[in-house]
Amino acid sequence: MTRGAAMDLQGILDTIFHEMQDRSDRGIVADYIPELAQVSPEHFAMSLCTADGQSFHVGAAEVPFSIQSISKVFTLALALGRLGDQLWTRVGREPSGLAFNSMVQLEHENGIPRNPFVNAGAIVVTDAILAGHAPREVLGEVLRFIRQAAGDDDIHINHRVAKSEQDTGHRNLALAHFMRAHGNLRNAPELSCGVYFHQCAIEMSTRQLAQAGRFLMGGDPAARLVSPARVRRINALMLTCGHYDGSGDFAYRVGLPGKSGVGGGILVIAPGRASIAVWSPGLDAQGNSRLGTLAVERLAQATQWSVFG
Ligand code: GLU
Repeated sequence: MTRGAAMDLQGILDTIFHEMQDRSDRGIVADYIPELAQVSPEHFAMSLCTADGQSFHVGAAEVPFSIQSISKVFTLALALGRLGDQLWTRVGREPSGLAFNSMVQLEHENGIPRNPFVNAGAIVVTDAILAGHAPREVLGEVLRFIRQAAGDDDIHINHRVAKSEQDTGHRNLALAHFMRAHGNLRNAPELSCGVYFHQCAIEMSTRQLAQAGRFLMGGDPAARLVSPARVRRINALMLTCGHYDGSGDFAYRVGLPGKSGVGGGILVIAPGRASIAVWSPGLDAQGNSRLGTLAVERLAQATQWSVFG
């Protein structure tokens, strides 16, 4: 593999940006959370932080967007830090092959979600860190973790987006009630979902998100928030489960661990090399950013970065 320093990474990002500007197949902006439907599909941004401390940006890299499910990576890191492997008694580690908000599997599998990145799994993870604490405290802890990872305190929750999801999040509440019925939710469904909706409504720019992902790339002891063994496991889950029922296709096309969100962001990790964030709000049929995926596919082709050799 080519080392980051020897490559013209800014040139690669510029080329990708120009290709994305010309594309009209931008996908569809999520509208099931009404506040997200207001976002223009024209935005595009990409940021990259290398293990040797350089950073590169293109497009609207300073514009905050709703990180949505990308927040699940940070809450998983927090929950593993707090509960360790005990967490795995309540949530699995297998790809789901189903939509992010599917109910069917949960019924078959007795209220134990397949993995921490489908909605049901993320609600369990949030319920685990909530564990008797006030929602406000837990959200404060999630924000502190993300701000520390990003090295940037200017990261906030968009309360309009949180309310918009709270008002329309019947499906997530149904998943939570179902898990509660199976004894796999310790707090009231409204409480766990309330925290979950707010963590999803955190906004970050691609610059902030790429910075926040540095703790997952390894190689930089200064960015070590989590042990190397745990980093490898979070990356394994991002690779196998980070794109819902599009995870296999993302692994095939990009070859790197990634976590998407319905706000159109994707966090991608090139272990030992770089943390990458991309944002384009239009989604494909699986709820993953259409141009974002294409952009990181182009990046992987140009850099030859891959976890598969
Ligand atoms: N807050 C969203 C939901 O629960 C997150 C989904 C996603 O980003 O994929 O529906």
